[in-house]
Amino acid sequence: MQYQRLKTTAGTLTVPVLDTEATSKLSITWHWAASSYTVTKYQKTRYHFVIDKDGHACHGVPIEKNLDNKNQRRQPGYAAHVLNANSNNIGISAAAMGDARESAARRGSYGSWPLTKEQIASLIEVAAQLCYCYRLPVLPTRVLGHEEWDSIMGRPQDRWDVNCIPHLDIRPHLNSDGGYDSTNYLRQQAQRRVAELAQPDDPAQREKQLAAFSSFVTFHDQAYAAQFPVETIRSIKQLRQQPPLGEFAREDLPVSEQ
Ligand SMILES: [Zn+2]
Repeated sequence: MQYQRLKTTAGTLTVPVLDTEATSKLSITWHWAASSYTVTKYQKTRYHFVIDKDGHACHGVPIEKNLDNKNQRRQPGYAAHVLNANSNNIGISAAAMGDARESAARRGSYGSWPLTKEQIASLIEVAAQLCYCYRLPVLPTRVLGHEEWDSIMGRPQDRWDVNCIPHLDIRPHLNSDGGYDSTNYLRQQAQRRVAELAQPDDPAQREKQLAAFSSFVTFHDQAYAAQFPVETIRSIKQLRQQPPLGEFAREDLPVSEQ
């Protein structure tokens, strides 16, 4: 297994170099640990990354332990962070929300250890960096909150992370498409960050790229996808076929056709 370092605003992350077989199956799940702000050893056995109060991302379980594809089987000690959906699923968790309750959050009360602004920024940053590195589109079926494994993917979880964003007072609100306002916001911001990583020096290109990604962020099914221009679909397919890492050409990420 080879590794690469990602310089992120949440700290330097060491992650495995993966082939397209592996990256095509990846998903990312956002959590909170239902804990105080203290990052514990236990949390580091449950998630791949745990984010402290100040937004620093601590390494937990190595990502490769959760891979399950023809090159590698899921290994003992994998991160069990979602019920019945841990294969190829990367878990990013914020140490927070210990005594928070969903019913109270609906009224604007978030407990003793509400998610901090810095934690939210790093949940977005780590997901975006992984999406860019592994060419993972920011789809609601691929980048989602823990609870959305139930509301979008139909796998009951009995959890409510990450259904609110305290400092923005985004309260738990489920949309008809199964996504929450909070995680839709996180995806939107992650998508914005991916565009920035792909086009750091060219705002015009960044906007085009953002438009291409935006086309994909609000739907969950193929029928809906079929409404989009074939070029956009193709660009996402190409995205998935890109080599996992190496020198990034700026054109590598999808740009919608005019
Ligand atoms: Zn969770």
